[in-house]
Amino acid sequence: MKFMNGLSEILKSSSYKKFSSIIDANKLNHAYLFCSPDEEYNNYFCKVVALKLICEKFEPCFNCDDCKKFLSNFHPDVLEYPKGPSLLVSDSSSIIENAEIKPMLANYKIFIINNFDKSTQQAQNKLLKTLEESPNNVIFLLNSTNTDNILQTIKSRTQIFKLEPLSMQSVLNFYKSQNIVVSDIALEMGEGWLGKTLNLTSGNFKECYDFVLKLVNEMKNSKVIINFAPIFAKKENFLINLTILQELMEEILYINLGLKENEQIKSAEEFKVEAISEIFDLIDNAKKQFKANVNTNLITDFLLFKILEVKYKWNIKK
Ligand SMILES: [Zn+2]
Repeated sequence: MKFMNGLSEILKSSSYKKFSSIIDANKLNHAYLFCSPDEEYNNYFCKVVALKLICEKFEPCFNCDDCKKFLSNFHPDVLEYPKGPSLLVSDSSSIIENAEIKPMLANYKIFIINNFDKSTQQAQNKLLKTLEESPNNVIFLLNSTNTDNILQTIKSRTQIFKLEPLSMQSVLNFYKSQNIVVSDIALEMGEGWLGKTLNLTSGNFKECYDFVLKLVNEMKNSKVIINFAPIFAKKENFLINLTILQELMEEILYINLGLKENEQIKSAEEFKVEAISEIFDLIDNAKKQFKANVNTNLITDFLLFKILEVKYKWNIKK
């Protein structure tokens, strides 16, 4: 089972070891909210925790009946929500109903609720009482990339557990087990997050990288920006382009501090350290606007012209 080899990488992570010791010390709470910036990792992490809780050997061993049932996606005591893109009141009703039914095979009845921050307020409210006084042996494993949209009343009824990224070797092994080849640069830029690394691997990453590198090298006047902007703004590549831009700016920072060399970047000396720090803020802001559904052409124009301005401003300063 390929999936299993991948999951075993997560068992090596510092976050898993930490959480696993809580279980082993019998200090398990009935509701957790796992947080990291990576949706995929959040989900895999909850799956591994669920496996440990239902495994006959309490490990996970990937080999006992319970582990096997779970890995084939039909363990009756582990239920995953939401059924659609986000948790709705109907999902909450179904959770409340199912929580009343005793576990059939394992010691626990486990509810994995993904992307809890995307749940409607009504769905969250409906779960409050169950989260507070959950039936015996029921464990809630919620996860989220952003706790801002989660009701304070929910947060106070769960234990928040922040996840650390995996080692790059683990990410590499995880995808190798699924026959997915991850490029070095995607691995480095993915920073140990499973989903981010995969996103950077898929599609036209190489093309985007060459394009953004060219932009950074040639970004000397507004005419260049007018030419590059429409391609940069293409919606399907926009986030990848932003991430690459951020990564290249980091490279330039290291080059200028004398900590790194990169012959591909020819414009490093044009970016002063102070300028780069302002550019990081601009890129962060652009990501936020993208999440808020602002038009990518508008974001790109503002971002690129502003970078040019910042670069110029710090170059004429003595
Ligand atoms: Zn097992």
